[in-house]
Amino acid sequence: MSRKRILITGAAGFLGSHLCDRFIKEDYHVIGMDNLITGDLRNIEHLFKLENFEFYKHDVSTFVHVPGQLDYILHFASPASPIDYLKIPIQTLKVGSLGTHHLLGLARAKGARILVASTSEVYGDPTVSPQPEEYWGNVNPVGPRGVYDEAKRFQEAITMAYHTFHGLETRIVRIFNTYGPRMRLNDGRVLPAFIGQALRGEDLTVFGDGSQTRSFCYVDDQVEGIYRLLLSDYPYPVNIGNPDEITIKQFGEEIIKLTGTTQKLVYKELPVDDPKQRRPDISKAQELLGWEPKIGRAEGLRITYEYFRSLPDQEIKHKDF
Ligand code: NAD
Ligand code: UDP
Repeated sequence: MSRKRILITGAAGFLGSHLCDRFIKEDYHVIGMDNLITGDLRNIEHLFKLENFEFYKHDVSTFVHVPGQLDYILHFASPASPIDYLKIPIQTLKVGSLGTHHLLGLARAKGARILVASTSEVYGDPTVSPQPEEYWGNVNPVGPRGVYDEAKRFQEAITMAYHTFHGLETRIVRIFNTYGPRMRLNDGRVLPAFIGQALRGEDLTVFGDGSQTRSFCYVDDQVEGIYRLLLSDYPYPVNIGNPDEITIKQFGEEIIKLTGTTQKLVYKELPVDDPKQRRPDISKAQELLGWEPKIGRAEGLRITYEYFRSLPDQEIKHKDF
């Protein structure tokens, strides 16, 4: 039997590269696509020798063409870290809107099922906690994070419209803060920021008073949830994340303990519109997909720390933000 063919956009990024690995492991033919704006080919270089992997360097905000049959599309291309999308706001808006439109059109032309990567940021600075999928969110459209949040909200809206009006098979995953090996040490997200600072012997920068919360999900759990959602028959948004909530101050203290650094927490200004709390309600994923996270923070952080520690020295020292 011939292999199922899947297109993964954002393939050279953190989540995209782990998804490529997973679908290769399941014996799919994987077509990776990425313009490398925040990604790194080293994340997928181990796949280049495989006959069931191909890669296109391409910006999906322009027209997307892929030769041959396609069974599935995973649209993961988008800057994902606040400092990235503040640096490249227009590209962020375009990949969530125009990029999604192109991939929905491609899915329709090929008769493929498409899963789009949405985010807990569609809930903005939430006034309910934990956040269930029914919550409509609290987003400032014209604030600095609006370029990402509104692009993803538009992405969800157009994906649902293709489902409703064209009968396209669509899936929407709302991803909550996910971490693991292959995050960029300098992408500004809190985990690589803290571990990078610890490795360089710098103080750990907590933004605000550190009372804001996040709930961190290990990448293997996230990939398993996405895999199950793709193969399910549920077209509406599903939260995938780990409900174990922690304040950023406590998180900093955990990183200090994990890395054994003698540095301390220092406090910096809180970025505008930084959500005060975030925790997924995962009852839908549990009921529909039989999914829940398996890897606790202690184990996930240990694996991730080992990864960052093994990077070449000049990479650990290099900061470009
Ligand atoms: P990442 O920056 O590591 O990966 C994104 C990839 O998309 C990069 O390789 C980048 O080069 C590529 N890309 C960006 N714009 C593109 C374009 N126009 N054309 C082609 N490729 C393009 O980020 P990530 O953490 O792996 O996030 C992947 C997806 O998951 C994103 O859509 C993001 O919004 C979503 N997400 C991630 C998280 C998380 O915690 N990691 C949380 C919520 C949502
Ligand atoms: N944060 C911090 N120090 C840093 C980087 C981030 O205290 O060096 C905080 C940030 O203000 C936010 C939380 O950590 O409250 C998570 O930030 P991140 O950028 O990882 O993701 P977000 O969930 O905000 O998209």
